[in-house]
Amino acid sequence: MPELPEVEVTRRGLAPHIEQQRVTAVVLRRAGLRWPFPVDLAACLTGHYVLETGRRGKYLLLHFKHGTLLYHLGMSGHLRVLPVTTIPDKHDHIDLVFGAQALRMTDPRRFGAVLWHPHDAGPLEQHVLLRNLGVEPLQPEFTAELMYRVSRQRSAAIKQVLMAGDLVVGVGNIYASESLFKAGINPRTQAGRISLARYRLLVQAIRDTLAAAIEQGGSTLKDFIGVNGQSGYFQQSYFVYAREGKPCRICAEPVRQIRQGQRASFYCVQCQK
Ligand SMILES: [Zn+2]
Repeated sequence: MPELPEVEVTRRGLAPHIEQQRVTAVVLRRAGLRWPFPVDLAACLTGHYVLETGRRGKYLLLHFKHGTLLYHLGMSGHLRVLPVTTIPDKHDHIDLVFGAQALRMTDPRRFGAVLWHPHDAGPLEQHVLLRNLGVEPLQPEFTAELMYRVSRQRSAAIKQVLMAGDLVVGVGNIYASESLFKAGINPRTQAGRISLARYRLLVQAIRDTLAAAIEQGGSTLKDFIGVNGQSGYFQQSYFVYAREGKPCRICAEPVRQIRQGQRASFYCVQCQK
């Protein structure tokens, strides 16, 4: 599943190809994905310039003078820039055409979304899908003090608090598992019982983990762009994620797997308390 780093790497890869470029056509090959495509999207966008790209959580944003187009990659989506003459396959659902190039969204499982938020509908932050999102983990407002303060009333396990998305966005299962390992925190620990000092370690671990993933993705950026490019969601070498039964890379204790909510958690009983 595309996580925040993949979305950010996608944004960085697309930006030089579409920012300050004018939409010359919109090609819809089906009525929608998770939700119907916006009504009259071609009429709405054709002739207008993408002023800049942005990202909020896992939403990729294309800002226009009169509104913002939101992409969500769902479970299996990806975006590529390729020559407009490239023959689409059956999972290529929507093209934004910029002259000779197209921004093409591929989504085999069709849980992705494309939504339009016109300026006259109010501030983008108030969009129904964005307004309850937590802070951005790579922005300065994501601090140990915030985590500590907000978590005082929470009895839920720290891993589930991280993944809930209302306190901080973009810390999916992989990044929650890996960051908790680096911070030495057991994923089952109640969020409200973690000290400020340990939250400092955790916040730094989350920042480092996400930044490393983005950096690694940046090195495979060419895979996002081009006729034959695959989505290139990058496999890192993880400390604990998906390593159940394998030796901890620090202490050699077998990594354990448990269920939290509906999700698998991976941790080292020796290294994480
Ligand atoms: Zn260990």
